[in-house]
Amino acid sequence: MAADQSETGKPSERPQFMFVIHGGAGAISREEMPPDLEKEYRAKLTEALETGYRILNANGSGLDAVEGAIHLMEDSPLFNAGKGAVFTSAGTIELDSSIMDGRTLAAGAVAGVKRIKNPISLARMIMEKSKHVLLVGDGAEAFAKEQGVEMMPEEYFRTERRWQELQRDKEKAEKKPPGEDGKRGTVGAVALDMAGNLAAGTSTGGMTNKRVGRIGDSPIIGAGTYADNQTCAVSGTGDGEYFIRASVAHEISALIGYKGLSVAEAAESALAKANKLGGKGGVIVLGRDGSFAAPFNTSGMYRGHIGPDGKAVVEIYHE
Ligand code: ASP
Repeated sequence: MAADQSETGKPSERPQFMFVIHGGAGAISREEMPPDLEKEYRAKLTEALETGYRILNANGSGLDAVEGAIHLMEDSPLFNAGKGAVFTSAGTIELDSSIMDGRTLAAGAVAGVKRIKNPISLARMIMEKSKHVLLVGDGAEAFAKEQGVEMMPEEYFRTERRWQELQRDKEKAEKKPPGEDGKRGTVGAVALDMAGNLAAGTSTGGMTNKRVGRIGDSPIIGAGTYADNQTCAVSGTGDGEYFIRASVAHEISALIGYKGLSVAEAAESALAKANKLGGKGGVIVLGRDGSFAAPFNTSGMYRGHIGPDGKAVVEIYHE
């Protein structure tokens, strides 16, 4: 039997499995969202949740659920990851991703790649098939080639919507408030599988108009992604520079492990730390007992969860 779940409440017993995803935090307002676009987001998030559910419900691993759901969102032009990623100031696309296994604390990450169709899968390959944690740029793509990872021409990732976002960003002389424009759409997932193992993953194109070579928090273990069976699994989205400086993902794990905070308390505390530095965003956090939280301090965050009852719950705004 599944225990009762809530975004803040702790379940009385560990559910068989649990799966939580996000599709980025940012200026997502109910008023400006075209209804058809909102429908598309809800449908794709539901599909990603159901992908994770099928894997976890068949006694699959949390890592497979995380990779599978992120893979699907990377392939969708809706999100800032894989196809549909945001542009650098030079009009190029550079992708970052990471994955972590809470059972062993093994991790893999990739940054600044331009032709990898599914960076999350390359991150997993780096974790499982190399002795390294983080590979960047040409070296990462050379490793991908050796491993037979699917590559795409750079045009594949480009979408008109993200191109227009870059033009708008360049036209705006004044500085926008952080986390509030053109950056939404990073994707992430956290899973607790039937064996009690936690896993986390994150994938992104970074931030619109970023400098060539800029790397955010998403491929940085402890900043954008963290998983430890003893504490929790975390994936973040928001102003990467601040998430790095506040070590948001590891901070959450540490607050749970050392201070005994609940996932919700730890998540709020770490977000507040990044916010105090000037960074906005959100996190999804899943505890070893199946409790989870998905707080954010932007106007919206695409997110959802699914448990043993198979009911996908998708949310976008502050409900
Ligand atoms: N955290 C990502 C980065 O800084 C962007 C985002 O989540 O919107 O690269």
